[in-house]
Amino acid sequence: MSALWGRLAARAAGSTHVVLLSMLAAPFLLAAPSLLAAPSIARAEVGTQAPFTRVVIDAGHGGKDEGAIGVNGILEKNLVLDVSERLTQLLQAENLMVILTREKDRFVPLEVRTSRANDARGDLFVSIHANAAKSRKARGIETYFVSLEASDSASSLVAERENQALGRSGPAALAQDPFLALLGDMISTDHMADSNAFAKLAQAELAQVVEESSRGVKQAPFVVLMGVQMPAALIEIGFLSNKEDASSLRNKAHRQEIAEALARAVVAFGKRYDARRGLDSLAD
Ligand SMILES: [Zn+2]
Repeated sequence: MSALWGRLAARAAGSTHVVLLSMLAAPFLLAAPSLLAAPSIARAEVGTQAPFTRVVIDAGHGGKDEGAIGVNGILEKNLVLDVSERLTQLLQAENLMVILTREKDRFVPLEVRTSRANDARGDLFVSIHANAAKSRKARGIETYFVSLEASDSASSLVAERENQALGRSGPAALAQDPFLALLGDMISTDHMADSNAFAKLAQAELAQVVEESSRGVKQAPFVVLMGVQMPAALIEIGFLSNKEDASSLRNKAHRQEIAEALARAVVAFGKRYDARRGLDSLAD
C-alpha cells in the first residue's frame, strides 16, 4: 500500500481530518505520481498524437475480495474475470492492445488498478462488475461513469458496495465523505463527455443482448474510476442477487454475448474518438 493510501486507511480508522489534510499534499505527489501529476497535459499531448489503441480492462475484485455472491453460488470475482478474458480476446482480434489490471484470482487494491491504467496510458478504462441488491427482483445491466454525486440513491448504494475494497463501507453518505471529496478533485473533467459517450454506447449494445430492459447510464462515485486519466466507465453486467440474471450469467454463451456487446462498443467508441481528433482509426 502506498503511503497515501496507508494514511487514508489510518484516517478511516479514526485519525482526524486535519491530520489527513496536512499529510496529503507533498507525499501524495511522491507516492502516487501517476494518479495526479499533470495528468491532463500529459494525456492531451499523447492523445493528439496517437490513435485509439490501448484499452484497460479492469476485472473487479479478486483474491480475498470476492465481490457479490450469487444466489446460485457464483462469485462476482470469477464471473467478471471470465468476461474480461473474453473481451480481451475480442479486442485483440480488432488490433487493439489490452492492459488487464488483474489476470488471475488475485487481490489488487483499487489505487493499483488506477496506477496501472495511467502508467499504461490507456485510451479507455472499462471496469467490469456484477450487481447485487436487497430486492431480489432487481435485474438488468447498468453502466456508470464517475461523478462525486450519485445520480440516485440506488446508484449510491452500488458505488458504496463496489468501494468496499477500500474498507470504507458504512452508512455515511459517500458524497459527504471528506475522503471522497478529496478524491473527487481528481476526477478528470477532460474525459467526462467521452466517458458518458462510451457509457451510452456500451449500454445500448448491452441492451440488445439482455432480456431485461436496460437500466440505463448512471453516475456514481466509484473510487476505481476517480483517478483514471482517460475516458472510463464501469459496467454492472447483471444482478447476482436475482435468480434469472444469476442463471443467465452462469451460461457461457450469455457471457460471450456480453463480451461481444462490450467489444462492439469499444470499437465504435475508438473510431469516434479518433475521428473527433482527426486521426485514422487502427481498429477495423
Ligand atoms: Zn463489483
